[in-house]
Amino acid sequence: MVDVKKIKDNVAKVTSKISSGKVAPHKHCRVCQKAIPVNSDPRVCKAVECQEQNDKDKRNEKQMRIWMFIFFGIFAFIFLTSILRQVV
Ligand SMILES: [Zn+2]
Repeated sequence: MVDVKKIKDNVAKVTSKISSGKVAPHKHCRVCQKAIPVNSDPRVCKAVECQEQNDKDKRNEKQMRIWMFIFFGIFAFIFLTSILRQVV
């Protein structure tokens, strides 16, 4: 059986904690979701694995951006040449 009263109690406890400001504003590590200070940058905890993962993600993101740029360039080139061909 689900104890509705207990759940309600827990919800009330959590919401009162948040509204009373007992839970300090914080972020979560984007890798392991551990609570970290708000001003931490990059958004990862101190664990080496998380920092490595973050570096890897950053590299992937950079590479992705380059590829998107290349694809956009190709697309723009095809688009422009097709327009120019119509004009001439
Ligand atoms: Zn972490």
